[in-house]
Amino acid sequence: MESRSGRCLCGDITYSVEGTPARQGHCHCLDCKKALGASFATIAFFKEEQFTLHSGSPQAFQHQSESGNTMTKEFCPKCGSTVFGSNSGRPGIKSVYIGSLEDASFVQPNFNVWTCRQLPYTLIDESLNNFPKGPQ
Ligand SMILES: [Zn+2]
Ligand SMILES: [Zn+2]
Repeated sequence: MESRSGRCLCGDITYSVEGTPARQGHCHCLDCKKALGASFATIAFFKEEQFTLHSGSPQAFQHQSESGNTMTKEFCPKCGSTVFGSNSGRPGIKSVYIGSLEDASFVQPNFNVWTCRQLPYTLIDESLNNFPKGPQ
């Protein structure tokens, strides 16, 4: 099975993921914008058994999503990069922010969620499964 590595900006946190993501897509919600300082988040969801932390001690920040789930963002305490996270509504699943992967060219997003928060300059691929709010 193919293994892919990722890290934070300073390199203290390193991890790898095995195999194919269970789901992969773009989230345009306000929380993702704030957490990443970006227009939207592209996230690959892996089962926890597909994920291995190799080094570093990620810090966790928890907040409530609009749907009432507890969202956990994990970031490097040294460089501040948000690298991965989880959602109480999807137990056992790690959300990997694809910018932290060394090579994310394998990622094939197949949905957009929270397109109601899409910024005017962000182009959306209309052939994907797109939802104005959270995943259905
Ligand atoms: Zn770091
Ligand atoms: Zn989001």
